[in-house]
Amino acid sequence: MKEEETIIIIGVGLIGPILALALKKLGLHCILFDRRQEPSSISLLDPVQSEGASINLAPNGLKIIDELCHSLYQEIERVGCPIQVFTNCNSDGDKLGEFETSTVFKPRYGYVNIGIARSALQSILINRLKSENILVHFNKSLVAISQAENELVTLTFKDGSSCKGGMVIGADGLHSMTRSLLFGAEKPTYTKTTQTIGVSPRPIGHRDVFHTVFGLNASFLTYPLSKTHLAWAMTLPEENETPETWKTLQPQDMESIKQESQVMSFKSSELSIEQLVTTSDKIFKIGLYDRPALSTWNVGRVTLIGDAAHPSTPHIGQGANQGVEDIGHLYNQIKLQLNQSDKPPSLIDINIATLFSDYQESRIIKTTELVEKARKMGALRVSPKDKCKERDQLLRNAWQNNETLYKAYDMLFSYKKE
Ligand SMILES: Cc1cc2nc3c(=O)[nH]c(=O)nc-3n(C[C@H](O)[C@H](O)[C@H](O)COP(=O)(O)OP(=O)(O)OC[C@H]3O[C@@H](n4cnc5c(N)ncnc54)[C@H](O)[C@@H]3O)c2cc1C
Repeated sequence: MKEEETIIIIGVGLIGPILALALKKLGLHCILFDRRQEPSSISLLDPVQSEGASINLAPNGLKIIDELCHSLYQEIERVGCPIQVFTNCNSDGDKLGEFETSTVFKPRYGYVNIGIARSALQSILINRLKSENILVHFNKSLVAISQAENELVTLTFKDGSSCKGGMVIGADGLHSMTRSLLFGAEKPTYTKTTQTIGVSPRPIGHRDVFHTVFGLNASFLTYPLSKTHLAWAMTLPEENETPETWKTLQPQDMESIKQESQVMSFKSSELSIEQLVTTSDKIFKIGLYDRPALSTWNVGRVTLIGDAAHPSTPHIGQGANQGVEDIGHLYNQIKLQLNQSDKPPSLIDINIATLFSDYQESRIIKTTELVEKARKMGALRVSPKDKCKERDQLLRNAWQNNETLYKAYDMLFSYKKE
């Protein structure tokens, strides 16, 4: 394939591979690079044996995946676990609200959320890239980008190798090197909250439920990620900056986490949190970060997507789903331009300046708003003890009023084709 026809994607996380699969549907040619080692083969049904934790895919992300990536949705549904119920309670275990996704989400948005082990999703995506003959290079850490007007982009990697392409999309996450090279280096913003995250066997009789306990100064959530396992996360305030490293805790640190969760004495209306934490095979503790909004995502033939463009704290579960919405918009705008030509699809027929400007315009306002909303939800999750009653009443009112509930979800899931 000619260099001017090649789209280079930096990052083989969640968004890079889905983007490459979607663009293949348009007949366009992508190559992907990632700084990580190639993951060794992962057992899809045993998340405990694999790297990373979990991800909750929402109706907006799933709709786009279903439309743009042939049979990927079905594979995610088979390996992961569709969520049937959302339920919240307060620190005393009193229910703040509950609804069934089959009556609230399915008729309105067409899909219900699916929990899945992150490593299982990654494994599915990498296998898909291979079976679709999309080239993926691991051990390639981007260090430089050069582009002159009307010329191809040249990328240089840490090992001294380089690659040229007609368009470059940085899908390289929270610590995006593409972003730093385009707009200057800047540290992600520590949000003074941490998450302790685990994967545990599902207790007998456990429902397919996304359950949140809004505790005193802390919160706890859990959802199933397969038939056998569930994911949980405890959010705590922490003034001292805590790194965002995904290293499994050592046994002695796990012990102190288990004690910490007992001190929080979460009372759940749904399951025993103490049991979940103590049966965890794997626990991580990470600091939560986001970044200030950018006023533009593009320079010349290079743009950003997913967390590279708008990294968010996970408190409204929309980070990856919004990255998938980016893909939906970019795909539609490329398709629109390609439809104006009778020739076979080619990058050469695309006006990149117009494409990128339309893409960014369709996304910046919503993603900026959601990063802000996620931060606010994070603050609610760790409300100080004297504010918890007020917070709980706010949540109870929102959950008991269908109109308020729909308004909130409509805003989150409002993906529309232009
Ligand atoms: C605790 C937690 C829970 C979350 N839960 C949810 C959830 O339930 N639902 C949801 O929608 N979102 C969730 N998110 C957010 C979600 O994880 C991210 O939005 C999503 O992973 C972004 O995907 P991405 O592909 O943009 O970036 P990433 O998944 O971070 O992938 C980036 C890739 O780029 C590679 N890379 C980095 N630098 C370079 C370089 N210099 N050269 C080459 N490659 C490079 C990395 O190795 C990585 O593979 C959560 C986030 C956290 C922290």
